[in-house]
This record gives sequence, C-alpha cells and structure tokens, in this order.
Amino acid sequence: MELKQFVKKEASRLGFLKTGIAGTDYNPLPHNKFLNWLKSRYNAGMDYLERETRKRFDPRIHLPDALSVIVCSHNYYTDPANDPKSGYISIYARGEDYRIVIKDKLNDLCERIMNKFGKFSFRVFVDTSPISEKTIAVKAGLGFIGRNSLVIIPKFSLNGSIYKGSFHFLGIIVTDLRLEPDKPVEGTCGKCRRCIDSCPTGAILEDCTIDAVKCISYHTTHNRDEIPEDIAIKMANMVLGCDICQLVCPYNNKPVETSDARFIAKDFLSKFDIGAFLDMTEPQFNRQFRDTALFEKGFEKIRGHALIVLKNIK
Ligand code: SF4
Ligand code: SF4
Repeated sequence: MELKQFVKKEASRLGFLKTGIAGTDYNPLPHNKFLNWLKSRYNAGMDYLERETRKRFDPRIHLPDALSVIVCSHNYYTDPANDPKSGYISIYARGEDYRIVIKDKLNDLCERIMNKFGKFSFRVFVDTSPISEKTIAVKAGLGFIGRNSLVIIPKFSLNGSIYKGSFHFLGIIVTDLRLEPDKPVEGTCGKCRRCIDSCPTGAILEDCTIDAVKCISYHTTHNRDEIPEDIAIKMANMVLGCDICQLVCPYNNKPVETSDARFIAKDFLSKFDIGAFLDMTEPQFNRQFRDTALFEKGFEKIRGHALIVLKNIK
C-alpha cells in the first residue's frame, strides 16, 4: 500500500473522521486577513496572538525540512442536553480533555507509519501551539470556513456512515514525509445566516471571523480577567463555551455520535449542577475534573462562571 493511502487508512482505524494532506508553502492571504483582524482588536485579551504571526501560516517555521502537513479531524459530538436550570458545558468539553486524547492518537499514527515506512521527522499540534489549524484544514481539503468561522465538512462518507458538520476536533502533523496534497473541497454557506442571527451577542462578523470581545466562548474559555457585565448577562446558563452558532447550523442537523468513548459526555458535565459545584472544595474539583478541559481553566475561574450562571438562572 502506498504511503498516503496507508496514512489515511490508519488514521481512520484510530477513529479519525476525515484526514487530508496539505503542502507546506506559505500563503500570505490568510496571514494578511489575520493581521487585519488583529488590527481591529477582535482578538480581545488574547495578546499572545500578536506574536510571531507568520508562524501560524508557515509550517516550515516549526519544522524547516517539512514537506507535508497531515490534518486529521475527529468527531466529538455527544449528548447536547441543555437544561436551562443547570449549567451548560460546551459539547466539546463534556468528555475527556481532547488535547490529550487527540495528541495520543496523532503520536500513535506516526508510530504506525514509522513501523511500516521507517523513521521520519514530525511535530504534532492540537490547539496548543501557534499554527492555524483551520487554514491548513481547508487547504488539505477537509472542508470550508463557515460564517461562524468554523471548518465545516460538507459531506463525507466513512465506513458506511455519512458525516457533515463542524463538531470535530482538528489535529495536525507537520512532517518531512513527501505526500501528495489533497485539493480543497467545494462548500459554502449560501444564503444562510442562521448563526449570525442567533448569536446572543452579535459576535459574528461578515467575513467569517469572530469578534472575541463579544464572544461568550472566548470569555468563558480564554478571558483571564473579569467577564464584562453585558456579556455575563447574555451567558444565560453557560459555564464553559457556547455552542449556539454550531447548533443552529443546517450542516449540523443530523449529527452522528462520536465513536470514541473518551468523548462521550460525563453525567456531571452534561447536567452541570451549579449548587453542587459551588459547594465543592478545590481538592474535590481537582479530583473530579482532572482529565477534563475544565481542569486547565482552574477552580476559581469555573467558580466565577458558576456564580454568574447562578444569578442568571434564578
Ligand atoms: S460561540 Fe456563541 S457567542 Fe461566540 S460567536 Fe458563536 S454563538 Fe456567538
Ligand atoms: S449557520 Fe448557516 S451561515 Fe452559519 S455557518 Fe452554518 S451554514 Fe454557514
């Protein structure tokens, strides 16, 4: 079996949904769009985004001999229950911490390739280092960027199931393996504006980007300072993240449950009991939340969000 076919087959065996290959050439267009976004201060308090911006769009800065980028998507869709009297945890965060799970799978993929084709150089990225996963995913033919700024897979068939939508994580392998790049796929939002019309804070901009200053997801996941009052009121019961612009998207109208047990919703996250959480001590939080995406945010931060939600749902 040839290398590219092997990579895709093994990725699928590891549970990845759609895998694509991109070249490593630098394209100034998405970089310039990103610079304009920064100029408008839509990055809110994420000052770190302003450093070494080219790194996000030029994979060879991460691995000078890189010839290809392997982009893997992984379905994370699980129980979307939302009881307005409980706290809401974004669907992506209801299972185990994806950065650990996806990184493990990408490393496993590299090991399988090495066992078959010999040693090569690589670097793995899952939402932790400065690289624009979304730009590279589009280049690798996974999908297109929707108005809600997410990578939407238009339609994809795998092992007899049809998948479309945006409930997936992205993982990247920059490597010196020579692989034939895939072509970008066709796809568009057409006349749809559901996400723009449904966003509670008007955070979605006309050019398929987000004004983080207004975005609840930003404020509940990245904002290290106090959440402004006007955003806090709009948070309703959201403790971590906000899925509104995904849940209303017609591409997500028939979501398929994730195949990985580690992403299946934990009961205490799909029904987040605000009262019980506020009674919890920090050591108890550390024990119960250790392997979830909430752990990294820290006890005090999540407690602050829970107090906002308590006020909102009274
Ligand atoms: S995550 Fe929520 S607040 Fe942010 S753009 Fe989407 S709908 Fe708006
Ligand atoms: S809701 Fe409509 S406009 Fe928004 S991303 Fe989905 S298809 Fe595009």
